[in-house]
Amino acid sequence: MAKDRAKDGKRNNQPGEAVSVSVIAPCHNEQECINEFHRRMSHVLEAINRPYEMVFVNDGSSDRTAEKLIELQRLDKNVVIVDLSRNHGHQLALSAGLEVAQGERVLLIDADLQDPPELLPEMMAAMDAGADVAYARRISRAGESRFKRMTAGLFYRLLRRLSKTEVPVDTGDFRLISRRVADILRQMPEPHRFLRGMVTWVGFRQAAVNYHRDSRFAGKTKYSVAGMMGLAIDAITGFASAPLRFMFYLSAAAGVAAACFLAWTVYALLILRIVPEWTIILFVLLLFSAINFFALGLIGEYVGRSFIQGKGRPLFIIRSVSRGGSDVETRPGGSSRDV
Ligand code: UDP
Ligand code: MG
Repeated sequence: MAKDRAKDGKRNNQPGEAVSVSVIAPCHNEQECINEFHRRMSHVLEAINRPYEMVFVNDGSSDRTAEKLIELQRLDKNVVIVDLSRNHGHQLALSAGLEVAQGERVLLIDADLQDPPELLPEMMAAMDAGADVAYARRISRAGESRFKRMTAGLFYRLLRRLSKTEVPVDTGDFRLISRRVADILRQMPEPHRFLRGMVTWVGFRQAAVNYHRDSRFAGKTKYSVAGMMGLAIDAITGFASAPLRFMFYLSAAAGVAAACFLAWTVYALLILRIVPEWTIILFVLLLFSAINFFALGLIGEYVGRSFIQGKGRPLFIIRSVSRGGSDVETRPGGSSRDV
């Protein structure tokens, strides 16, 4: 279809034509990667041959990322630039992209080519087969330090134990999501965002697509150890309720220990006819510890509840409502902001 093509052979969306695939690539000082990313991603998208857009989010870069993106946009009308006022971090950059992306399907992908664009057709196929989310699962990670691989592995396994939301192990934010999932994510206003967990939380059918994670095309990681810790804390506080209950467990343990010492004290007094002062002291100490831990647990429970409420997530998401065989829709429900 020649008239669909621009001079450079790129697909030219017709006015009013719905965007089928949006790609969101957050960029923080990625001047060396952008052109190569654009080349490989365009190649894949052209082959899919549906209207597309590539949304680059410039997350407060201090190198020539912004200029590079403007150059690209001059050459390719499918490029959309979202320029953030300053560095907001990877998760917020992705979220900003979600606000702008118009596609029926949205691909979240890093701009450094660690996530291979060539995986998109397989993800599209998984979505065609009925999934709402096709997430990429790393079966190997090249060019990352042992430290990073080990901490990442440990972290995902810990999160899985602590959390009711089963965030898949060994995945990042590299995933293709449907429009309805994208819209629900936009309605989750929580400021501490752990997107891969939020996507899992949304539900629907989510399919895994395996891949080998490459090393960076150029430059170095923009995630410091502190940055990774921050993300891990966001994940655990955002998705795991187990730590909140910790004080209750401590309280129960102290309570049981106190009861043991009390029993021993009574036994020693009545049967052995000695006055075991140290067990009395320990009993009193443990009793008060138990009371303290219990009080802390109780406060934690209230703080946790208001924390969860503060996140303002929808309480549930309705896949569809069917009345007499018609009226089928998706909508988040149950929050005070809703309906
Ligand atoms: N990134 C961003 N803002 C940041 C840090 C990173 O937009 O503050 C982007 C970065 O340009 C890359 C993606 O997020 O496209 C993933 O970052 P990075 O490759 O540094 O993380 P890693 O792959 O090492 O975990
Ligand atoms: Mg990377």
